[in-house]
Amino acid sequence: MFCPKCGAILRPKEKGTKRILYCTCGFTKEPKEEAGTELKETVQSNKKIEVIEQVEIHPKVRARCEKCQNTIAYFWTQQTRGADEPETRFFKCTKCSHTWREYS
Ligand SMILES: [Zn+2]
Ligand SMILES: [Zn+2]
Repeated sequence: MFCPKCGAILRPKEKGTKRILYCTCGFTKEPKEEAGTELKETVQSNKKIEVIEQVEIHPKVRARCEKCQNTIAYFWTQQTRGADEPETRFFKCTKCSHTWREYS
């Protein structure tokens, strides 16, 4: 599961009796009840991914943040699901964490 806002990997989190998925950008997703058995698998695999994500550091590039006018942002790319779609470039401001995407 990926965040639709910034493209990062969603992380599982306990919220009361429910399990929700959340992202560091503030996005949260509550999975549907019927996905009960699938959810367990998702949570397990997400835990593995979470460890990888902690050591992952995106390179910094020159890019202007439209929110705070900072000129340095973290940069990464991600292939969207459709094979015919171009690679999407992601930028995350190093100052205010504003994340945006750019289509090539
Ligand atoms: Zn996000
Ligand atoms: Zn910014």
